Amino acid sequence: MALSTRPAAELAPFEWDYVPAPEARDIVSIAPRNQLYIGGRFVEPHSKHYFKTVNPATEEVLAEVAEADEVDVDRAVTAATEAFRSWSRLEPAKRGRYIFRISRLLQERARELAVLETLDGGKPIKESRDVDVPLAAAHFFYYAGWADKLEWAFPNRTPRPLGVAGQVIPWNFPLLMLAWKIAPALAAGNTVVLKPAETTPLTALLFAEICEQAGLPPGVVNLVTGAGKTGSLVVAHPDVRKVAFTGSTEVGKLIQRALAGTGKRLTLELGGKAANIVFEDAPIDQAVEGIVNGIYFNQGHVCCAGSRLLVQESIQEPLLEKLKLRLGTLRVGDPLDKNTDVGAINSRQQLEKIQGLVASGIAEGAEIYQPPCRLPERGYWFPPTLFTGVAQSHRIAREEIFGPVLSVLTFRTPDEAVEKANNTPYGLSAGVWTDKGSRILWMAERMRAGVVWANTYNRFDPTSPFGGYKESGFGREGGLHGLLPYVELS
Ligand code: NDP
Repeated sequence: MALSTRPAAELAPFEWDYVPAPEARDIVSIAPRNQLYIGGRFVEPHSKHYFKTVNPATEEVLAEVAEADEVDVDRAVTAATEAFRSWSRLEPAKRGRYIFRISRLLQERARELAVLETLDGGKPIKESRDVDVPLAAAHFFYYAGWADKLEWAFPNRTPRPLGVAGQVIPWNFPLLMLAWKIAPALAAGNTVVLKPAETTPLTALLFAEICEQAGLPPGVVNLVTGAGKTGSLVVAHPDVRKVAFTGSTEVGKLIQRALAGTGKRLTLELGGKAANIVFEDAPIDQAVEGIVNGIYFNQGHVCCAGSRLLVQESIQEPLLEKLKLRLGTLRVGDPLDKNTDVGAINSRQQLEKIQGLVASGIAEGAEIYQPPCRLPERGYWFPPTLFTGVAQSHRIAREEIFGPVLSVLTFRTPDEAVEKANNTPYGLSAGVWTDKGSRILWMAERMRAGVVWANTYNRFDPTSPFGGYKESGFGREGGLHGLLPYVELS
């Protein structure tokens, strides 16, 4: 670390200069042109179309990726339907063994996956290395264990797999969302056709290689890359028996409408506008770290991000002072640098959405704070931002920004905190910071949120179910609950 030569007393935290510590990227080799993965083979798309995926931190084109059309999606679903016949009848312990093998290979190739995830999506390497990849491996490991214990998972019932699962995932946690979807589906004896997001397809394609390495029978996992149109084809295919979607509430509603009356099973994990609530008796320094982790982790591209801070009025001033100071120490920049806290915004489109909502916050009268920070010249960047003086009616208090932008509101009593926390069409997550266990339980009982974290935030574990209420969707992923959408019980 190189320090400024000025006396320490004069230094604001953002004036520290860090020596670059970039992770080497030569561990990954990216094919210039990538095909679809269908029936255990990489195949050219019938569409003959390819789209480009870029590194959002530099705007460098990383590769061309095949765009699957209706014929391609049909080929993938047919391959999955054929594979289902033998995969669903395979001795469950053997099925588990394949999934364990995938988990081990994810661990073995962890560095490669982490670097690729960071290159393609813009998230800091320390997050892809320490969160995304280990958690993805842990999901496979956890569900592998269930493969031969399904009858214990559902006592006195006979669980049977459904068939082909059509799965569509977003760009914020590409490999992790893939794991959340594929691991329980395979453990329960289903086969899958998965569509990764258009801006982040590369780790899914590396995952296809891992399936090959694990010797997974052809057709059990199929990957069709493409844009929203490809996703809608997967969802609409008549031979898909179960649809799992994570993404925007808008597209979730379209899917729900399209599936009405088809008899297909559906789980939706959609947006959020979570309240992170800090009471006056909370340990403030710990809460500040939790607030930062809640909203600036993964540039705020997190469906359960603590994007509304509800702070008890009596501690508003000292808490905001500490929070602003802490914002000044966040290092924004090269996502491959091991010191980076806030990486690149995933796409130009997402950057424009964030800029638009931030402009609305200013226009509606909220007060903006951004620490001084130098943003790289190329790529898509947005500084850590917080708004004070936010009213519940402001768009920045109601809409999912999906960026590093925190809206600060205040409350006086626990009842008011609950009322404000629940005053949203969403219901995915919430956080409570207080010294009193009884208050945590009191709050958790009253908040309409699928997950309530207490004195922590953004903690994930494969054994724990995750999912929302209201416009945040329905169904649960993770834990025993995550198996239920993939089985028929008799
Ligand atoms: P989308 O909901 O459009 O994307 C999620 C996935 O669905 C992607 O794979 C996408 O493909 C695919 N998709 C798009 N349209 C359809 C369709 N009609 N039928 C089936 N699949 C479809 O999210 P965006 O990427 O457009 O992001 C927009 C906003 O959504 C963000 O700003 C954020 O607020 C929110 N969002 C929330 C997420 C969450 O986890 N809750 C995750 C991502 C976004 P493609 O990538 O090619 O468009």
